[in-house]
Amino acid sequence: ILIPSLGLVLAFWFYSARDTFKPEMLRGKRVIVTGASTGIGEQMAYHLARMGSHLLLTARTEAKLQNVVRRCLELGAASARFVSGTMEDMAFAQHVVREAQTTLGGLDMLILNHVGASYFGFFDGDVEHVRKLLEINFLSYVAMTTSALPMLKESEGSIVVVSSMAGKVGFPFTVPYSATKFALDGFFSSLRQEFTIQSINVSITLCILGFIDTERAVRAAAEVLAERPAPRDECALEILKGAALRRRELYYRYSSTRLPLLLRDCAAELLDYLVRSRYRLPATPGA
Ligand code: NDP
Repeated sequence: ILIPSLGLVLAFWFYSARDTFKPEMLRGKRVIVTGASTGIGEQMAYHLARMGSHLLLTARTEAKLQNVVRRCLELGAASARFVSGTMEDMAFAQHVVREAQTTLGGLDMLILNHVGASYFGFFDGDVEHVRKLLEINFLSYVAMTTSALPMLKESEGSIVVVSSMAGKVGFPFTVPYSATKFALDGFFSSLRQEFTIQSINVSITLCILGFIDTERAVRAAAEVLAERPAPRDECALEILKGAALRRRELYYRYSSTRLPLLLRDCAAELLDYLVRSRYRLPATPGA
């Protein structure tokens, strides 16, 4: 009786220890954060700064990045710098990773978070917009991952992919955006399988977010979404905890993401209905 009980206690202790996040886990880590000039990316930069990480931030708007870098240094970042440019350009995506090699001497965590502008409304048939959004929201993620992989293998580091409920279940009014987020799941979940087969110790954390109170999201959806957005600073911290603990997937908030998704396999139409019922629907043209 004693030996199995001891085994159970040890297993419980091991599981709890595995599950405990400590800010020290990210101290001194070399981290790239994309889309760091505003929103959730900016908040992740501030949390990482408080934890003492080395930061390489990127987005398009240099003036905003300068302010974020300054604040990160005030908050205690081990170092903080930025590279500005657009993720429409795959050469730029690769350039950011090379900067990490040159200035940080390697990389422990690649946080892929940026998102290109899209519209909120019925799909308008603009194929060129879908192509451009795929380049920004998907292909640049692939390009950065590919370039960063040698450094991440060496550090046994982590890739963090910021996605959405719209990347797990069909969402109306964000068809091109949703398509890019589904693509991320396909690519990174398959890549994770290959890492396991090849014993590559690089974790991939796919983050499934609900409605978060960033300016862009609130401007786009607050009037039509019948729910309150969750706070972006808390969301940013949860992403970092999930990444540090090398979680496979991170759901924020759990009640509005993971729980409804449990319906997907057994009651898909009910889930579709619940998703539609979140919206104050606009009048259908011609109806
Ligand atoms: P924001 O719009 O606040 O921030 C987007 C960031 O991406 C900015 O830093 C922006 O900076 C950068 N960016 C935009 N276009 C480009 C480009 N072409 N090249 C390089 N960088 C670019 O977004 P959120 O913080 O709301 O979202 C962050 C992530 O969270 C996204 O992946 C989003 O899909 C996901 N998410 C957000 C939700 C929400 O409700 N907020 C819900 C579900 C998922 P700049 O303009 O200076 O380039």
